[in-house]
Amino acid sequence: MDLLDTLTAKGLRGEIPTREEALAVLATTDDELLDVVAAAGKVRRRWFGRRVKLNYLVNLKSGLCPEDCSYCSQRLGSKAEILKYTWLKPDQAADAARAGVAGGAKRVCLVASGRGPTDRDIDRVTDTMAAIKEADPQVEICVCLGLLSDNQAERLKAAGADAYNHNLNTSEGTYGDITTTHTYADRVDTVQKAHGAGLSACSGLIAGMGESDEDLVDVVFALRELGSDSVPVNFLIPFEGTPLAKEWNLTPQRCLRILAMVRFVNPDTEVRIAGGREVHLRSMQPLGLHIANSIFLGDYLTSEGQAGQADLDMIKDAGFEVEGAGEATLPRHRADVAAAAAGSCGTAASACGSGGGCGPCGGHAHTPEAEAAPAAQAPTAEGAADELRSDLVKVRRRGAGTELAPNA
Ligand code: SF4
Repeated sequence: MDLLDTLTAKGLRGEIPTREEALAVLATTDDELLDVVAAAGKVRRRWFGRRVKLNYLVNLKSGLCPEDCSYCSQRLGSKAEILKYTWLKPDQAADAARAGVAGGAKRVCLVASGRGPTDRDIDRVTDTMAAIKEADPQVEICVCLGLLSDNQAERLKAAGADAYNHNLNTSEGTYGDITTTHTYADRVDTVQKAHGAGLSACSGLIAGMGESDEDLVDVVFALRELGSDSVPVNFLIPFEGTPLAKEWNLTPQRCLRILAMVRFVNPDTEVRIAGGREVHLRSMQPLGLHIANSIFLGDYLTSEGQAGQADLDMIKDAGFEVEGAGEATLPRHRADVAAAAAGSCGTAASACGSGGGCGPCGGHAHTPEAEAAPAAQAPTAEGAADELRSDLVKVRRRGAGTELAPNA
């Protein structure tokens, strides 16, 4: 297929596709799906070999957020019966992080609900990072606290943070349909602040919120332009008690096409399968590893993932290997670019910088090609769009904020 040959050749050279080519990936048929995965797999292996980076989430503060992100179980007015608790103490967070690292995670992601941190919150996270790094100096720490104010990114960097996560989530054009309490521009601003302070930028999207193919392509190109070093691809977890509880728009095939499109646009960037992996990819998860080079180990912020051991078994059975602590994630040329960007901006962060969305939470337009495809091969809702599927969404009841051992 010409499209896939072109995309593979570009990806192997580290070049990105045109917008039309990216849209065409989303319009491929189920008959073409394995070819799409194989093409994206060649690009993945060119830059990341067979390594899978494992990331581990620690939810430092859960629920009761004043923001109104429609997809989020922690939002203002959410009736989702999630765990709700205030800040974990540094030793509690370090215990949870240690379990993830012992399970094979290379990066720990410290996440707190809320619009953004106070300076006192930055102090708390500073103490938490110190406790984690005392136990394991090599562990990468990514912090996700929502919208950043001036100098907060610099403080996190100085305290030992390696990365900052703040997802764009969806296109600029539809952002106002998803959230009203902050803007897309606020989010871009926080990613730029993090990058400007020399933190590696982690920023991704949520698919399955009723967006069009154009919206998905818009946000993925925007992430590339922002210079995100890792792109988490969340698949909406439609929590009962949130406005998007009945948005079951994804099939495993659709998820794989989305991952492939993200890979082609970000050939040499970490692409992470984030929240919703088990819910939407289900038995197709191993195929996702041929496209993405990174996943979360164990549970998510407010929902349970599969057992950490099942993640490890899946990686091994699919012929991949867990990325070691001493191995670089990004290809050298990308790491150099990231370092140079951090260096040039970091000394003049105020000129660069000008964010709340948190970590993994957890439609489409027609093209001529899609129009020509049999109806059964167009992306279809997995269930009736009006159904609740509480059988597929399991609220987290273990790990941080509970007396039970974390899943790692
Ligand atoms: S995504 Fe973050 S900012 Fe938005 S409602 Fe959830 S916890 Fe709050």
